[in-house]
Amino acid sequence: MSNQIRVRFAPSPTGYLHVGGLRTALYNYLYAKKVGGKFILRIEDTDQTRYVEGAVENLINSLKIVGLEFDEGPKVEGDFGPYFQSERTEIYKQHIDELLGKNAAYRCFCTSENLDKMRTEQKAKGLDTRYDGRCRHLSKEKIEQKITNGEKFVVRLKVPQEGEITFYDVVRDKITFPWEMVDDQVLMKSDGFPTYHLANVIDDHLMEISHIIRGEEWLSSVPKHLFLYEQFGWKPPKMAHLPLLLNSDKSKLSKRQGDVAVEDYLAKGFLPETLINFVALLGWHASGDREIFALKELEKEFSLKRVNKAGAVFDIDKLKWMNGQYLRTLELNYIVKKAIPFLDNFTLPADDKLRKIVDFGRNRVSTLAEIENVVKPFFSLPKFDDEAKEIIAKGQNLFKFWVENLEQLDQIRVEDVNNLLKESTKKVGVKGKNLYFPLRLVLFGSVHGPELPEIFEILGKIEILTRFKNVIGNV
Ligand code: GLU
Repeated sequence: MSNQIRVRFAPSPTGYLHVGGLRTALYNYLYAKKVGGKFILRIEDTDQTRYVEGAVENLINSLKIVGLEFDEGPKVEGDFGPYFQSERTEIYKQHIDELLGKNAAYRCFCTSENLDKMRTEQKAKGLDTRYDGRCRHLSKEKIEQKITNGEKFVVRLKVPQEGEITFYDVVRDKITFPWEMVDDQVLMKSDGFPTYHLANVIDDHLMEISHIIRGEEWLSSVPKHLFLYEQFGWKPPKMAHLPLLLNSDKSKLSKRQGDVAVEDYLAKGFLPETLINFVALLGWHASGDREIFALKELEKEFSLKRVNKAGAVFDIDKLKWMNGQYLRTLELNYIVKKAIPFLDNFTLPADDKLRKIVDFGRNRVSTLAEIENVVKPFFSLPKFDDEAKEIIAKGQNLFKFWVENLEQLDQIRVEDVNNLLKESTKKVGVKGKNLYFPLRLVLFGSVHGPELPEIFEILGKIEILTRFKNVIGNV
């Protein structure tokens, strides 16, 4: 076995990339980058009943959008493929035979009715429900007879029945489990497909994975995995179990309380940069107080030593705040490109004007999707209700004054707007509300809103004149 650091993200393709999955993928990726190792994507698709059309493509696409490139995996072939478990069934079969030969596993012929009955009886006695090992001691003859009769069987791991197991986790340090808490895990199902536990252990070994970095929900599987490594005579990888992700009420992060798919967040207008940065902080912190990190910076800063034990709260308000920071600070051209799909209700203007509009919007929202509403007034002539019409009726002299003066200018600069505002007071006799409200109403559709020079800058001379002329005499 080489000394190279090799880590893997091993999702079961259930349809989309969960934010928890993104966190696992990210920490694996960051660790590999930090230490110059390899990041592998392995698709754990042995559960045929959970097959979802397009799920793998979707997952790979989400990883690509957020910038997590893998060194080996589907379509990035390395020396350890295939990277789809469904293409490795022969390998698992050989290893099951090895375990059966070593008497470390056994065939279990119990039907699901028998198992249900067993559980009901255990519950009635107030016991924990677990497989009671009744097929552990079937004689060779009995087994052969059952196989000849065509009885279906699974293969179970023969875990120790007493004592305890102690191991070390990079995040949680020393952990001990009594064996009585560990069930005789099914390793191969009656359809000949392996379970997660068997396939995962075999592949981690054969793919020379040096570190397993994954969610805490897998911690309780470690004893049976370590037992498997021992039976095969293999050295287990180091392990780091990441803290649970929690809703703000501290319950386990679930779909019921909001979105959990990376693609949903992208569709709502969160930037890939934000998702990476935000998810990086779910269970890890930098050495100082700093919170804003680009992926490249995380690659240098990340350390498994600073992964926390305590559950990490998924704080949507913080996510929005962070997205706002990225919207305002990333390069404008990039934000324009990202914003365009969210502005498809509008006929987009030339590049220069579009840049100004998006720049206006990005400073006032927390997601790309919110930009549409904020910039709407720039795309269509305002509509006026009765109250607005009254203001417009009173403002006729003011509008005429502006049109006369603006028509004489080639280009409208900020100082021109400010001058005309002053002049309006002198020549038309309006100030304060009576000056600003009608102007903003006509040009932006509401009495409150952005500063007038900003509106002028975005709309430009032609559109400004159109908007004034639209209301002159129209009372
Ligand atoms: N296939 C498992 C999952 O879906 C992988 C767990 C592990 O990393 O071992 O999360």
